[in-house]
Amino acid sequence: MTATVQGSATLAIAQHHFDTAARQLDLDPSLTAVLRHIKRELVVHFPVEMDDGSFHVYTGFRVQHNIARGPAKGGLRYHPAMTLADARALAMFMTWKAAVVGVPFGGAKGGVVVDPKLLGPTELERLTRRFTTEISLLIGPDRDIPAPDIGTGPQEMAWIMDTLSMHAGYSVPASVTGKPTVIGGSEGRHAATGRGIATVAVQALNDSGIDSAGATVAVQGFGQVGSNTAHLLAAAGLRVVAVSDSRGGVHSGAGLDIHALTALKEEGGALADYGGAETLTNDELLTLGVDLLVPCALEAQITGANAAGVRARVIAEGANAAVDPDGDAVLADRGVLIVPDILANAGGVVVSYFEWAQDLQTFFWAPGEVNARLREVMGRAYDAVRARSQSQNVSLREAAYHIAVANVAEATEVRGIYP
Ligand code: NAD
Repeated sequence: MTATVQGSATLAIAQHHFDTAARQLDLDPSLTAVLRHIKRELVVHFPVEMDDGSFHVYTGFRVQHNIARGPAKGGLRYHPAMTLADARALAMFMTWKAAVVGVPFGGAKGGVVVDPKLLGPTELERLTRRFTTEISLLIGPDRDIPAPDIGTGPQEMAWIMDTLSMHAGYSVPASVTGKPTVIGGSEGRHAATGRGIATVAVQALNDSGIDSAGATVAVQGFGQVGSNTAHLLAAAGLRVVAVSDSRGGVHSGAGLDIHALTALKEEGGALADYGGAETLTNDELLTLGVDLLVPCALEAQITGANAAGVRARVIAEGANAAVDPDGDAVLADRGVLIVPDILANAGGVVVSYFEWAQDLQTFFWAPGEVNARLREVMGRAYDAVRARSQSQNVSLREAAYHIAVANVAEATEVRGIYP
């Protein structure tokens, strides 16, 4: 598969939300042009030796959208359908996400066009180390700090940290976040995105007049984000009645045992092997009559084509752009409250900021401190977005973009245009 520089549905969504905010904020056209453009992007094609001795050439990307507020920050995705256009879109989301929660980072994203499930561990390590070397032109602790995304996790981050450290000749833990704690990762990072989602979802339920105790929940995607969100919502007293992954899901009106489902997945089983529940498809999960729906898989899961069938009262977007603008419009007409991606899933970048700061200071925090600070940042950001939504009579998404775009615009203006 080769890189495409054509548009993607996700890029169109990212541009739509930015253009709406720029218009609503009456942003100066020159400033609008600056913020709408990608600052820099790198496309790399690189060989990796396979276990059978053959070589395969992979394509990867690193895109920095905006660095007005600080070093670039964003995940690395290993996925066969990854494109340069998707990396641009996801980098834009990262810029707004960091701004809406007030962490001093710009936005970046990257990845490799690869299905990591088809590679053995040594192939994956060689691919990761070579890709890191290829994009080392751009990344580094003061410049651009990668993190996990779909298809990558703590092990890949450890290989990236080690590769950059070998280049430098000394350990550079602040070069990447989402690492194992033994090499400078932060307590609480693994569950951070889920914890942030759970925090704002409960606030949104309460604001909608729904008692979160016993509220019913469906979670699409059971990876790092979805499984932690399901755990934390269940621990907070909500009833998780359905979860799914790429192979489909399970549903039980009485509630699912999330620990048992996690154990099943860790043993290599399928969610469908879980006893005492009915199986269901991803389409069926999205249209369940639940209080809260949390899509934590891929982009554009709820669109103009299926939004009319969605019966949840509140949606918290775990995945970026899980609801597209046509889906937004249908759900708004029906009074469904959507906590937007750039706010809902910002917990990951918040604790990544904590991890980076801890690495730079070589001073580490206890789990309780990380989680308390995360909840405080998410709660404050949610309150600001909700207040703006009410004062301007706009959706939570529009309000979040107002705050984020205005913040990056102010940083750009005060720095001035060089030279
Ligand atoms: P992951 O690879 O750990 O998990 C992805 C999950 O989605 C898996 O359970 C997979 O089976 C499932 N999935 C894939 N295709 C699906 C489909 N068509 N239908 C249903 N399920 C499907 O990835 P993750 O880190 O959990 O990320 C999930 C989403 O959250 C992504 O969109 C990512 O960009 C976003 N996100 C992640 C973080 C983070 O900290 N990891 C932060 C912010 C946003």
